[in-house]
Amino acid sequence: MFNSLTERLSGAMQGLRGKGRLTEDSIRDALREVRVALLEADVALPVVKDFIAQVRMRALGQEVTKSLTPGQALVKIVNDELIRVMGEQNESLDLNAAAPVVVMLAGLQGSGKTTTTAKLAKHLAEAHGKKVMVVSADVYRPAAIAQLETLAGQVGAIFQPSDVSQSPVDIASGALAEARRQFADVLLVDTAGRLHVDAELMDEAKAIAAAVNPHEILFVVDSMTGQDAANTARAFDEALALTGVVLTKTDGDARGGAALSVRQVTGKPIKFIGAGEKPDALQPFYPDRIASRILGMGDVLSLVEEAERSVDKAKAEKLAKKIRRGAGFSLEDFKSQIEQMDQMGGVSGLMDKLPGMGQIPDQVKNKVNDGETRRMVAIINSMTPKEREFPDVIKGSRKRRIANGSGTTIQDVNKLLKQFGQMQKMMKKFGKGGMGKMMKRLGQ
Ligand code: GDP
Repeated sequence: MFNSLTERLSGAMQGLRGKGRLTEDSIRDALREVRVALLEADVALPVVKDFIAQVRMRALGQEVTKSLTPGQALVKIVNDELIRVMGEQNESLDLNAAAPVVVMLAGLQGSGKTTTTAKLAKHLAEAHGKKVMVVSADVYRPAAIAQLETLAGQVGAIFQPSDVSQSPVDIASGALAEARRQFADVLLVDTAGRLHVDAELMDEAKAIAAAVNPHEILFVVDSMTGQDAANTARAFDEALALTGVVLTKTDGDARGGAALSVRQVTGKPIKFIGAGEKPDALQPFYPDRIASRILGMGDVLSLVEEAERSVDKAKAEKLAKKIRRGAGFSLEDFKSQIEQMDQMGGVSGLMDKLPGMGQIPDQVKNKVNDGETRRMVAIINSMTPKEREFPDVIKGSRKRRIANGSGTTIQDVNKLLKQFGQMQKMMKKFGKGGMGKMMKRLGQ
């Protein structure tokens, strides 16, 4: 997530390393790089301007020039600003209303509304113990209703059937009556999308909202659309009075422009981010954690939370702790990590949250794609305990044995060892000492 932004921003910050004093010139150069990084990330121009102005003001003040570690001071300012533009704090769903609390999801076609409806149902049930009903008011795409039914089955939500012959308003009102009858705590109303914002779509969404009076109206938007995401959100907000935004597909978004623009452009908080297709790939949006990820400092907190949620709790927590401590980790750990990762949003999702991973080139990350995990586990399984602990002993004939044993090739074994080596190096470099030390590193 946001890899290219991370690369550029940490590049800009690293340029200041080792400088005992920062001159106005070096600050100006760094700010220019930050500006380019934000523009390339497709952050909306007014947001970029404001961001740079704020950073400049603070950077030229005493905070940085008088600091003994000016680079570090500047990193802190950039970090603070990132947090500020994203809205400072996590804003959760407001469920304080008479049950059933109605939450309506709106957005363009393909933005991820149906998937997000299911993810939210799961989240509300698991994190808040709510009894959730879902209904689809999308009567234009017949597959949409069936898709929600399947997903509802997967996440254990009550599915309220609907039919393309009904009007969306009737569907929503009928579902609300049914939710009352069944004493559901929350009713999630998935609505139809269009390819573009159009009057018909807005009128329909308004009519649904008028009929069921949602307590929350969430705008679901694909983060890959960059600053357009913020503009579309604004258009929807004018019609619907949104209460929040869900940013989807952040797992595929290298740039981050949407995450950085939405709040400033619309004034509405991002409440959740979607980071994968599976129903558990939904995370509450924490500006400070995302800022930390953007600066390549990892997001160990989310990692630990996901570990807590995942199936083998004891194992996962141990692993998360180990990562946090920055303790050396072996191929055995790597294997259990790979296995855990499937439960935690896949390899790529986890790597994103590890400190320093943002700086690993995409080519390396992409090689560790989720489809490869089984092969990696097979390779490690074919190693002796000693080899797992001391991978350096794995030379020619051992490699052949491992490849044969796991039904892979020597190249596969080499690749895994290389990936492991890189990971181990990163862990050592960034894991130790936690965030403070990392900040210092970036700033030096
Ligand atoms: P809708 O038309 O707005 O209801 O969109 P869907 O929920 O059908 O989603 C469209 C596509 O995006 C589907 O293939 C989803 O699996 C995919 N999708 C939704 N959210 C995410 C996400 O957070 N990450 C990824 N990678 N894919 C997603």
